[in-house]
Formats: sequence, C-alpha cells, structure tokens
Amino acid sequence: MNSNIYIANWKMNITSKEANSFFNKFLSLHQRSSDRKIIFCPSFTTLATSVQSALFNDSNEIYFGAQNVSDKKSGAHTGEISVSMLKEIGIDYCIVGHSERRAIYSESSEVVNNKIKLLIENKIKPILCIGETLEQRENNNSDEVVLEQLSVCLKEIPTSEIIIAYEPVWAIGTGKNANVSDISAMNTVIKNHMNKLGYIDEQFYILYGGSVNISNLSIIDKASFLSGFLIGGASLEPENFWNIVKR
Ligand code: PEP
Repeated sequence: MNSNIYIANWKMNITSKEANSFFNKFLSLHQRSSDRKIIFCPSFTTLATSVQSALFNDSNEIYFGAQNVSDKKSGAHTGEISVSMLKEIGIDYCIVGHSERRAIYSESSEVVNNKIKLLIENKIKPILCIGETLEQRENNNSDEVVLEQLSVCLKEIPTSEIIIAYEPVWAIGTGKNANVSDISAMNTVIKNHMNKLGYIDEQFYILYGGSVNISNLSIIDKASFLSGFLIGGASLEPENFWNIVKR
C-alpha cells in the first residue's frame, strides 16, 4: 500500500442536512491514522457549514475542498463562486478541470489555468483532473491528451503543491477501471512531465479516479507513483467510504 490521500467528490449529491448525518456516522467509525489525508469535496452550501462545524475540531486528518471555483476574481458573474469566497470559509483544496465540467460546461484547459493561478495566489491547493475519453484512448492518443492538458493547465504558474488526479473519462461513474499497467504507464508519463515542468517529486501527488471501490482499490493501489484516489460514487455512503479509507 503506497496511497494515503482519499478525496471524496460528492458532485451534486448530499444536502447539508444529509451531510450532517453522514459526518456523524463517519466520525463515529473514524479512527485517526498518522499519515492519511481525507479530503471531502461537498457542494458549496454544505462546504460552508461543514468546514466550520465543531465535529471536525479533533480530526486533523480531515480536510475540505470545493468542487469548482470561478476563473474570475469578482464582479458581474452571476452564479459563480470566487476564490476569495472559498478562502473566507477556510478550505484547503479545490477540484479543477473535472471531466464533467469540461464536457457538460465546456470548460477549457485555458480556463482551468486561470483558476489554478487564482487558487495558488490564495494558497488553496488545486486538485487538477486530467484524463482521456474512450475515443482518444482507442485512437492511441491518451498520452498526448494528458500531456496537453497538463501543459496548458499549468502554463506560467509558479510551482507549488498540487494534486493531479488521473481520471480516464470512460472510467468515471461507469464501473470500468483502467488496468494497473495502464495506470502505471500513465503515472510515469505524468511524473516525467511534471518534472520537466519544474515540479520536484515532493511538490505533486498523482491520484487515480474512475469507479474506485472497496473491491478494486487494492489492485489499483499497486500502480506506480500512486499517492491516492479520487472517489465519486463510493464516497456517498459513510460505512462504504470508511471501509475504503481504513483498509
Ligand atoms: C469522480 O467523481 O471523478 C469519479 C471518479 O467518480 P466515480 O468514482 O463515481 O467514478
């Protein structure tokens, strides 16, 4: 086992009230471990209440992240949430470039690049999602796509701590996983490119995401250069998520 970062991406699930019951149950199961990091990424409304909740006073391995942030600083951008708003509630992480945002909301890597700049300026650590579609994989373009996403998303950004989540788009929410050798090969490509961009190994972590669950976790965990998992569906239920995290 070489992984110790677990990110729960709740997407547009779990209301604040439901989150309260989730956390009550999760924390009743939870036992602290010295080297594990659990990052919950709930909705914006739940984020604001959870971060300030007394429930977490004694849980120094539990962190919070947003699922998105605006690429603009402030102003007339109806419906957006700015980085200073996230900063104000005291979160540590923010997901950017998730494939659902790229595909459904047409978010480009250039927009993601702006978001990362703002996050780093405000000392919020980005969780950058990258990954190829099924068509791109079948055309043997996976490496090229991922390298392009990394280069554009991290263009002209000072190196600082970042989490890279490799999430093959065809594996998200589908029950399919990439096999370990493919994940290892991609992680190697990502690691080498990050080094080329000037990041030293201690500055970045590579996670895998895409239908991770209790049954496939220990197999995927054998992949090279893997520091953890980004988990959607299997993070929505407290016992299930705790079983994954505790191992
Ligand atoms: C995700 O939210 O990015 C994700 C990997 O979801 P799932 O675990 O449900 O595939």
